[in-house]
Amino acid sequence: MMEPDDPLSRAHSVVHRLLHEHFADLMRGEPIDVAIGRRAARRLASVKRGPSGPVITVNPLLLLPGLPPEVLEATIAHELCHIVHGFGTANRTMGLQPHRGGIVDAELNRRGLKNTAQVAKDWCRSQWGTWYAAHAPDLVAARERRNEDAEAAWKTFLAQPRMRSLEDIQRLAASAAALAGCEPLGGVRWLYATPRNRCLSYRSTREDVILVHGLAAHPGVPEHVILYQLALWLHRKASRHGRDWQEVSTAILSRDRIEQAQRWMRRQWTAFMRKHLPV
Ligand SMILES: [Zn+2]
Repeated sequence: MMEPDDPLSRAHSVVHRLLHEHFADLMRGEPIDVAIGRRAARRLASVKRGPSGPVITVNPLLLLPGLPPEVLEATIAHELCHIVHGFGTANRTMGLQPHRGGIVDAELNRRGLKNTAQVAKDWCRSQWGTWYAAHAPDLVAARERRNEDAEAAWKTFLAQPRMRSLEDIQRLAASAAALAGCEPLGGVRWLYATPRNRCLSYRSTREDVILVHGLAAHPGVPEHVILYQLALWLHRKASRHGRDWQEVSTAILSRDRIEQAQRWMRRQWTAFMRKHLPV
């Protein structure tokens, strides 16, 4: 049988085949529709409720010729599993998290799609970046431009008078470590944060470095809030040697200050971010 040429028909035929071979139970439910979404770097597909039933929206970069068929199959099968679990259907999902406890992978395994999913996963891990760059060079260039703009905006922001310098933060980190008798943090660096970065600090997954949100340079962020963040990371490191949070944090900050820092983050941080974020 010839595979249909146009992308939407190809997606339809994959849905059709998967329904027959692995999801026969879904054929008794509402009809499942397919739509082509936007090209995207992360989202391969999604499912939502349409006027007559679930609609699976597919990233068009998965519908280009040359992609291993397992990738499209596994992507659509993944969404069909969500439908099995009630997402995109009239059945209530009661606010459940769609990927809780690996239920999608379990469902794929149960339906004999373990190998397909594995092939797709391996391909995505090693090839998706290249595929995306080759087929969406304009999006890659736009993202680079946005990154450059953001970096420039942050550099201007951090260079303003009265801002804390990175050295100031490093000094706070060193004195906090000394006060708590902890091994010092590996390093501290500014995070040129985006609106997605909701936290005041992060730990780099690649190196032993704490990334501090650029807004922590602003004098409107109280020093005890920064010390509190540093205490969290120092404790995280020291907890491996059995140090507990109470002991580490109160060596660095008084109990009042700890409470004030927690309150500031709970009540002020989001609004502060909204007001001052330079990007
Ligand atoms: Zn999913």
